Amino acid sequence: MTKITFLGTGTSHGVPVIGCSCSVCRSADPHDKRWRSSVLIEREGTAVVIDTGYEFRLQALRAGITHLDGVLYTHQHSDHLMGLDDLRVFTDEKKLPVYSFESVLSAIERIFPYAFSEMPYKGVPRMQPVVVAEHQSFRIGALEFTVIPVLHGCMRIAGYRFGSAAYITDVSDMLFSENEEYLKGIRTLVIGALRDKPHWSHFTFSQAIEAAERIGAEKVYFTHINHATSSAEIEKRFAPYAVPAYDTLTVEVQDE
Ligand SMILES: [Zn+2]
Ligand SMILES: [Zn+2]
Ligand SMILES: [Zn+2]
Repeated sequence: MTKITFLGTGTSHGVPVIGCSCSVCRSADPHDKRWRSSVLIEREGTAVVIDTGYEFRLQALRAGITHLDGVLYTHQHSDHLMGLDDLRVFTDEKKLPVYSFESVLSAIERIFPYAFSEMPYKGVPRMQPVVVAEHQSFRIGALEFTVIPVLHGCMRIAGYRFGSAAYITDVSDMLFSENEEYLKGIRTLVIGALRDKPHWSHFTFSQAIEAAERIGAEKVYFTHINHATSSAEIEKRFAPYAVPAYDTLTVEVQDE
């Protein structure tokens, strides 16, 4: 069994949006409080997070994370990255491996040069960059990942498959012609779906469902949701096939 814990399920602004008084931002439903998108993946004692946004410290405390074996980055947008500094508690004795494309890791090194320094200032996070290529499979402890490249507007970013599940956020094109064989057998799909109105770099709910059906996924969890739609409304329209993930939701998936 592999356990997915949703640490955050909101788009870059988070929900509620600062200064917004729309009905979703004012909603009393806890499922309408969305921190920046991130997940914790656990299997047989191995723990990995995908992305570390602004609220990483709060998310790690809320989820009770006590150790990490690695961090995967989908891309270097700040809502997926800026919590990196708080990883330092996991790097006291050893460097923490961080996995992504070369382009993403070099952007991260420019933003946090001290975390990659060979002569680090005492107390800084110490990261070990591990470059992964499109469609590469790699193992971290008991978890095996495969990189699924997708388009996010004009950027190629990394989705990650693990067993019969995949985490694909910030996607506007699944690149089916390139990814076909790597998508086969995905049963549980976590996929970024921003809202109903089309967006140049994110799927709408219906585009995400169309992609999920083409993949053949059996169960779909939307993430990276914005404040245009309440959790209750998304649930009403798309359940049971697709449901909105919410912060703190945990899902157990069968290994392949
Ligand atoms: Zn994002
Ligand atoms: Zn709002
Ligand atoms: Zn992004």
